[in-house]
Amino acid sequence: MAADFDYILVGGGLQSGLIALALRANRPQTCIALIERAARLGGNHTWCFHADDLSTEARSWVAPLVEYSWPGYDVVFPHLRRHIAREYSAVTSDRLHEVVSSRVEGQVGSALFLRLSATRVGTRDVVLEDGRTLSSKIVIDARGPRRNTATKTSGGYQKFVGLELELARPHGLNQPVVMDSTVDQSDGYRFFYTLPFTRDRILLEDTYFHESPILERDLARKEIHRYADTKGYDVKRVVREEFGVLPMPWGGSLPRDESGPLVAGYRGGWFHPATGYSFPIAARLADFIADRAPEELAVRRFRALMLEHTRQARYCHILNSFLFLWYAPTNRWNIFQRFYRLPLDTIGRFYALRMTIKDRFRLLVGRPPRGLSLRYRMRRRSNK
Ligand SMILES: Cc1cc2nc3c(=O)[nH]c(=O)nc-3n(C[C@H](O)[C@H](O)[C@H](O)COP(=O)(O)OP(=O)(O)OC[C@H]3O[C@@H](n4cnc5c(N)ncnc54)[C@H](O)[C@@H]3O)c2cc1C
Repeated sequence: MAADFDYILVGGGLQSGLIALALRANRPQTCIALIERAARLGGNHTWCFHADDLSTEARSWVAPLVEYSWPGYDVVFPHLRRHIAREYSAVTSDRLHEVVSSRVEGQVGSALFLRLSATRVGTRDVVLEDGRTLSSKIVIDARGPRRNTATKTSGGYQKFVGLELELARPHGLNQPVVMDSTVDQSDGYRFFYTLPFTRDRILLEDTYFHESPILERDLARKEIHRYADTKGYDVKRVVREEFGVLPMPWGGSLPRDESGPLVAGYRGGWFHPATGYSFPIAARLADFIADRAPEELAVRRFRALMLEHTRQARYCHILNSFLFLWYAPTNRWNIFQRFYRLPLDTIGRFYALRMTIKDRFRLLVGRPPRGLSLRYRMRRRSNK
């Protein structure tokens, strides 16, 4: 029996959105079913990425998603301020919903299923909560992080609350400040993240790298307003709030070559373990999928990409354990300050998960950043 679709994409988040766009660019006639349990695609996120982390092809199909772009950004530490001259772009969930839904629905034979959960996800078919079964040549499962994965892997967390603020007066910034670490460091590595959207609109995020996944949103909101005050931002109203708790593992969380549907996105371990930054990885996977016919993908799966991703991710696991197990919370910022003194290319390849052997060497070898503590390491071990 002929399949209903060429591809079924389960979960309408970042990963499926990018796969749908890559498929439209490479295989315009292909029939896609995209299934999302919420009323809209993309949830409630602002995703940022460096333009040069994407392939030339990906840049062209990602372009319609980009809502804001800046030629570079600053990072600020107690003893370092550096401008990073790398194009930085932001994609919003609203834009992802508009662009991806029009691309999927615009092709005869494709369909968007919103407000419908997939209750069974198989290799070639998916059962929806209303009882329908859809079939396809290949199923890609991108339903986002599994519930409770965060508590099962060993590691720390990156947790943050962001407020999009409308200001009564222009903020005066002309580029993002991606890390302002000149704030209280008593509770783990902490920084503020500022994206200036328009003259009087900014996204301000309070971010912690922490042992605990518990996010105190009320406290973070207060801290954001306090930070806004110190910067002289005259807040008129809060337009929107977003938050996240992303794993920073030092074990597990790697893609696995199992039978069943292809598991993509966060759910499949396709993220940067040391930053949570997954946009370029999701785009790479989307390129990989769109370059192959579904029949070929069904046989060869992601194996080639998986090996390289795993090698890079394992190295990041070492970095995570170094950060969390050898440095007391108050000292962790030293590691990031040292990192941002490295050559721009090394920094870029680290974020893109494309580190060379020399980069890996540079990141860990040499005089360690201040604060490395054997005593702290022993204490962590005895508290286990
Ligand atoms: C607030 C926030 C900001 C982030 N910012 C960045 C950033 O700037 N840059 C970056 O690279 N990374 C960022 N990340 C990390 C990462 O990129 C995101 O988590 C990304 O959204 C993961 O993509 P995904 O498609 O795997 O999962 P998701 O985007 O979470 O998508 C999964 C989708 O599947 C749906 N779903 C789940 N179960 C079912 C089901 N049974 N049936 C149907 N649908 C289902 C969910 O509703 C959801 O829409 C951010 C994360 C958060 C939380």
